[in-house]
Amino acid sequence: MNSLENIESILLPGVPDKKPIIIAGPCSAETEEQVLITAKELANIGVKIFRAGIWKPRTRPGTFEGVGSKGLKWLQRVKKETDMYVATEVANSKHVAEAIKYGVDVLWVGARTSANPFAVQEIADSLKGVDIPVFVKNPVNPDIELWIGALERLYNAGIRKLGAIHRGFSSSDNNIYRNAPMWHIAIELRRRYPYLPIFCDPSHMGGSRELIAPISQQAMDIGFYGLMIESHYNPDKAWSDAKQQIKPEVLDYIKDMLVIRDNYQSTENLNQLRKQIDNTDDELVELITKRMRISKEIGTYKKTHDMQVLQTSRYSDILNRRITQAEKFGISEVCMKKILEAIHEESVRLQIEIINK
Ligand code: PEP
Ligand code: MN
Repeated sequence: MNSLENIESILLPGVPDKKPIIIAGPCSAETEEQVLITAKELANIGVKIFRAGIWKPRTRPGTFEGVGSKGLKWLQRVKKETDMYVATEVANSKHVAEAIKYGVDVLWVGARTSANPFAVQEIADSLKGVDIPVFVKNPVNPDIELWIGALERLYNAGIRKLGAIHRGFSSSDNNIYRNAPMWHIAIELRRRYPYLPIFCDPSHMGGSRELIAPISQQAMDIGFYGLMIESHYNPDKAWSDAKQQIKPEVLDYIKDMLVIRDNYQSTENLNQLRKQIDNTDDELVELITKRMRISKEIGTYKKTHDMQVLQTSRYSDILNRRITQAEKFGISEVCMKKILEAIHEESVRLQIEIINK
């Protein structure tokens, strides 16, 4: 199935098609003054799309949950007093109706909401007949099908100006990031839907000011289309996500430092290198096949000698030996471990098949 096939550009009139497209603004609209001061500073550095959360999905109750509908009037002032479009997060049909009524130009579905098909369907239903750009953040859990499902629900409701925002995933084993990037998920989304614009949200991914620049650069190197960055005129005093918000002047600096590489430059050299990669992959597949064949023979041996399939000490030996070897060649432990685990899992599967024949 080739869903999402007639995606239209998310670029509204007056937004130049120049990478990266930047959506910036505070995590939350707090006061009329805070919104207007921040918006004007962002407009001055050339930002064209202003973000501000009006309704905030907070992990714990009792924290600031957004100013609610009254903030929509502040966004109207932003539109009138700067040349920016305005964007906000919607999580239910009431939010959609209010945002549309007050002329919000761009909507996004937050990470907690895109993990919930009922909520996404409700939003999609209330957007029928509305023609504005809608972005879908990745769900909090690393499930690409759930992310695509949310995009499809909106698409099926007639939304064509669709985009995705990669903001990272909840994970127990990440240390420096607030939400683990797991870039391969966004890369897979790009592979399946090359025409779908993907933005990166380094603010929620990194969770700290220092990580905004390096994550943004990584996103550009992977070929993302744009960035959604939290910016506040006085970040230290922000009512939500204070640690990850940056001043507009810092955003301006980061934006200027980004290196945007040309995706379309295809040189003869590159083609030759790709040929070598293809040949190496051929050899890899042959080697893995050979290894599985041996593994099946071992399976037959284990069957005749009534041995268990899983021999943990042998498996530990293999892991340790190859990880140490790979590290010497500059290949990370995480990568080597994943490869060995996948190979081992397949070996075990084949041997179990043989033993139970
Ligand atoms: C936000 O953009 O302020 C937000 C709540 O983000 P996320 O849905 O990615 O957590
Ligand atoms: Mn936030």
